[in-house]
Amino acid sequence: MKITFPHMGNMHIAVKALLERLRLEVVPPPPISKRTFEIGIRHSPEFACMPLKINLGNFIEALENGADTIVMAGGWGPCRFGYYAQVERDILESLGYQFKMIILEAPDSRAYDLVKQIKSLGENVSFWEALKAINYGWSKLGALEALEKQLDYYLPRARDKARIEKIYNIAVENIDRAVSKAEVYEIEEQSVKEMSKAEMKIDLPLKIGIVGEIYTMFEPAVNYDIYRLLGRMDVEVIRSAYLSDWLNDHILKGYIKKSIRPDIIACARPYLNYEVGGHGLETVGNTVRFAHMHLDGIVQIGPLTCMPEIVAQSIIPQISAQEGVPCMTLWLDELAGTAGLITRLEAFVDMVHRQKLKAGNYQKEA
Ligand code: SF4
Repeated sequence: MKITFPHMGNMHIAVKALLERLRLEVVPPPPISKRTFEIGIRHSPEFACMPLKINLGNFIEALENGADTIVMAGGWGPCRFGYYAQVERDILESLGYQFKMIILEAPDSRAYDLVKQIKSLGENVSFWEALKAINYGWSKLGALEALEKQLDYYLPRARDKARIEKIYNIAVENIDRAVSKAEVYEIEEQSVKEMSKAEMKIDLPLKIGIVGEIYTMFEPAVNYDIYRLLGRMDVEVIRSAYLSDWLNDHILKGYIKKSIRPDIIACARPYLNYEVGGHGLETVGNTVRFAHMHLDGIVQIGPLTCMPEIVAQSIIPQISAQEGVPCMTLWLDELAGTAGLITRLEAFVDMVHRQKLKAGNYQKEA
């Protein structure tokens, strides 16, 4: 079996590590490129959301590279994600591809059921080996997220930003190549140490929170690498979600660590007190949470036509006015373009900067 899966940020590194420990041959899709977008868009329904189109492009490119099995997450609820796997399978079959699709449904309540599902993917692996494989993939995910946090912290502050990005890029490649947990931790520690030696030019950069649809927040090819764009503008980005949090909350039911989702939902309550599908409720809650954390501004990002985010967008102006925090929404699609995005971000950052200067509590360059 040659197995593949869709891209979502650095997730492929952790998933590849997990699947290899299940003794599977892994064929990750090539990195998302212009071609991935083109193929996905060509074969998807026009009004499908962008993540579906990119998933489809990923699968076609991986099948062309020899994959014969696709693993995809399932879902439920008032959002199109629940139908992705079935729609993608039908499209691929209609195009003549021969493959097997395995849909991993999130268990209703027990992490045990998920481990059983993952074990069943493997080639003669025991329950214990499946657990160890998950743990190994999780260690890579944890290290990658720790590095993302360091990148977000040091990039806006450092004088030599290219160096920080280079340290991060090399560390990600090395974590992908690492063959043991000890090696993963060593790479993480070394890279953080190297970043901390960089010469700083700003002590207290502007802080901007990013909220929005999960796939758009996690996948740099879709969000045009917004975290780095802002970091290069001397802005510290505060991410509202990490993949490990999402998995912990939605798939592992808080089994790994204490979930902050109840706090997020409580923050949303004065403005929205029911699920609207996707990440809409969390977007509202995180916007309020970030306002309470006194961030200088908040940017909501999502793919065009994403209903849960459209609902959240309609509420955000009220939060902005009542909580006193500048907010902006960016709808992203394949036509957005980096230049236009940079212009809009620069204008927003400039406005946030002026507001902070007016309030008299802003320290620019050291
Ligand atoms: S959350 Fe939005 S983008 Fe994601 S599947 Fe649902 S509607 Fe589509």
